Amino acid sequence: MAGFKSQAQVFDNVWDKINKKRKKEVFAFNERYKAFIDKGKTEREVAREMVKIAKENGYQDINQLVAKGEPIKAGQKVYALNKDKSLVMFVIGKKPLAEGMHIVGGHIDSPRIDIKPMPLYEDSGVGLFKTHYYGGIKKYQWTTLPLSLHGRVVKTGGETIDFSIGEKDSEPVFHITDLLPHLAKDQMKKTLAEGITGEGLNIVVGSIPVQSKDAKERVKEALLKLLKDEYNIEEKDFVSAEIEAVPAGKARDVGFDRSFVSAYGQDDRVCSYAGFEALLTIDEPEYTAVGMFMDKEEIGSMGNTGSESVYFENCVAELINLQTNYSDLLVRRAFANTKVLSADVTAAHDPNFASATDKQNSAYVNKGVCLMKYTGSRGKGGCSDANAEFVGFVKDIFDKAGVVWQTGELGKVDQGGGGTIAYILANKGAEVVDCGVPVFSMHAPYELASKADIYMTYLAYKAFFDYK
Ligand code: MN
Ligand code: MN
Repeated sequence: MAGFKSQAQVFDNVWDKINKKRKKEVFAFNERYKAFIDKGKTEREVAREMVKIAKENGYQDINQLVAKGEPIKAGQKVYALNKDKSLVMFVIGKKPLAEGMHIVGGHIDSPRIDIKPMPLYEDSGVGLFKTHYYGGIKKYQWTTLPLSLHGRVVKTGGETIDFSIGEKDSEPVFHITDLLPHLAKDQMKKTLAEGITGEGLNIVVGSIPVQSKDAKERVKEALLKLLKDEYNIEEKDFVSAEIEAVPAGKARDVGFDRSFVSAYGQDDRVCSYAGFEALLTIDEPEYTAVGMFMDKEEIGSMGNTGSESVYFENCVAELINLQTNYSDLLVRRAFANTKVLSADVTAAHDPNFASATDKQNSAYVNKGVCLMKYTGSRGKGGCSDANAEFVGFVKDIFDKAGVVWQTGELGKVDQGGGGTIAYILANKGAEVVDCGVPVFSMHAPYELASKADIYMTYLAYKAFFDYK
């Protein structure tokens, strides 16, 4: 086609634009990223790891600062951990908070299989856990994988037990069965959505019965005894527990050239980690730099650890109270003057599923961080659609900092769609645009992302925080 410039020609390939030193940095950054996501398979684990590193980098607990009531100064570093599941970090800027913040906001919950409150049962001599999946998954992808269990159990009286089983080589893993092809005549006629059902996602957890022949459910009884002896967990304790089944194992390099990372939960720990590490490089920004690492995005951001909660607003109000004479108006001004990169992944154009995306308006792997003006579905439904002026502002920051970036939208019109936390801060008056890493196999047990894009996303967030 004469004169036609495809997406591929308009936007640069990261590998063409970086020198040897930068290439080394790309790989080094991804080693740190992989080590980080191996430690954080749940929102609680990610939040815990982030707090640990934040403290080592001089961040102070907001609750302690509020208790002391001393004025906060430019350059001060503050973290706010919300119920062990979501985290907000601030580097106080030279300008007052009421003049606005620069926020990079991602989420640290990921699609997974949650254990039901009364999980354990026995059928045909097999001990199983009943489950309820969390977030949008293709259920058939979650069978026949080694699964690990991570969670917290709250015992009578409030004692908590945190555990993780299945990540170490010495530990057992868990398994959801699928039917052998030889007997799958009926199953194979079903659609992919129906072939494995939600109530069918039961996890094999054991099979050795108790000795006593009088027991009614000999395997269940044996498993309850084992849970009590080894973990001090009783059947009713599962009611006050959050146990998540996730793919077992570590993040891995993919490709002869090791250009991709394969890992569980890259949506959205990849953007969260890029934002986190970018924030750690910031010392005394012009505008208060904020990293938001939120929970519950995958199920609609509701609840007191999700982005819809007043938690973040309360933190900002507390900090304004420590900075100046508090008024509600100052909090409103802080939000109205704020600029946000909604840090979430998008779909990369996949040559195996080329018909799902508009080639001209899709993100591609290795083309750098992806700026998405809007998300949504069925006519941009539910999205905040960034203002052209703000997209222009962000583009300029990236260009000046040498960030390789591209644009793209999530799939063809009317093919489906999705959302992020962008609209929540936009509703409070902030300027917000979606900006993150394009991935393959989003929401699958193992997602794929390009190391070059991950690194460029980090540089993009850093440039946004550094804005003067
Ligand atoms: Mn996401
Ligand atoms: Mn998601």
